Amino acid sequence: MNYVLKEFVDILTKPKNLFKIPNMLLVVLSYGLCKITRRNITLGYPFLMMIEPTNICNLRCPLCITGSKLMTREDGLMGLDNFKRLIDEMGRYLVHLTLWSQGEPFVNRQFVEMVRYASDRGIKTMTSTNGHFLIENAENIVRSGLSTLIIAVDGASQETYEKYRVNGKFEKVYKGMLAVTEAKKKLKSKTPVIELQFIVMKHNEHEFDAIRQLAHECGVQVLSFKTAQVYTDDQAEEFLPKNEKYRRYELDDTGHFKTRLEEVNFCRWVLLCPVVNWDGTVSPCCFDKNAEYPLGNIFSDGGMRQIWKNENYAKFRKQIFTKRKEIPICTNCSEGLEVEVFEKEEINSELFNIKNTNESVAV
Ligand code: SF4
Repeated sequence: MNYVLKEFVDILTKPKNLFKIPNMLLVVLSYGLCKITRRNITLGYPFLMMIEPTNICNLRCPLCITGSKLMTREDGLMGLDNFKRLIDEMGRYLVHLTLWSQGEPFVNRQFVEMVRYASDRGIKTMTSTNGHFLIENAENIVRSGLSTLIIAVDGASQETYEKYRVNGKFEKVYKGMLAVTEAKKKLKSKTPVIELQFIVMKHNEHEFDAIRQLAHECGVQVLSFKTAQVYTDDQAEEFLPKNEKYRRYELDDTGHFKTRLEEVNFCRWVLLCPVVNWDGTVSPCCFDKNAEYPLGNIFSDGGMRQIWKNENYAKFRKQIFTKRKEIPICTNCSEGLEVEVFEKEEINSELFNIKNTNESVAV
């Protein structure tokens, strides 16, 4: 069965999620109404959410605004108490939580506790990491109930890897993946599903077979090939791969890049999944990296439910439905692209079939 479909069935069949279904239906209904009428109609509350544990990172990746020091927001960490406040408000609706935005989640030492708090409420959790903190956290990650662990590895050797993951240690990430796989075996847990994510770039596009081999060795279940986001013509020239299948941009004869957008005046994220930054600011999506379009703050503006239906969100959605091209972040994002952002391969699928589920693992 398709991996995403499997996840969906798994979410809906968890007893703790059954009473969340009426709200999900309301959100799906308002999504459909917005798509047809192009008006802001918000019934229900988000059942998906992205939360940023921190915007700080240990690496210096050149296409990331944290890594390249272009982040204009203050550096910081979300406190566990604030995280719990948010989950206490939204836990009755949430079925899936994405735990990252900018920054490396494991830099926040309370991160694993956050995952556990959400998992205990039946919420599926997914995070994405550069893999440098896995060795010391392996067993706790498995015990936390984390559903999906995405590990970014954009090279099959130190030499290729460090061209993009500046300051990164390939061997540490490799051993970290093995450590989580070993911890899953030891604790007889089928979660987290480990997804190795490979951003396809000019300097690594020859390594598809090598990364497949690496994924097998490390007990990974899903391998995803992702397209890169660039911001300047120079970056396009330096990083975009030759293989056009893995480019979300067209290059004209003079080397200027343009996003390959198919659908312009729509966006599912503003109707489905708010982003809460570490300081409580709500952004429309993870492309608003510097929170230039703040929609409210969950700690000072009445909480997430109030913000979801406030005037700022309504105005932003209306602009998306009518003049998306006028919003700078929306002209260089992955929503409505004519190419797939990810290409996923399921591997080591026997590891999905371990009998004991994570819910039975003692904390
Ligand atoms: S940047 Fe993209 S994902 Fe974000 S609100 Fe705009 S269209 Fe939606």
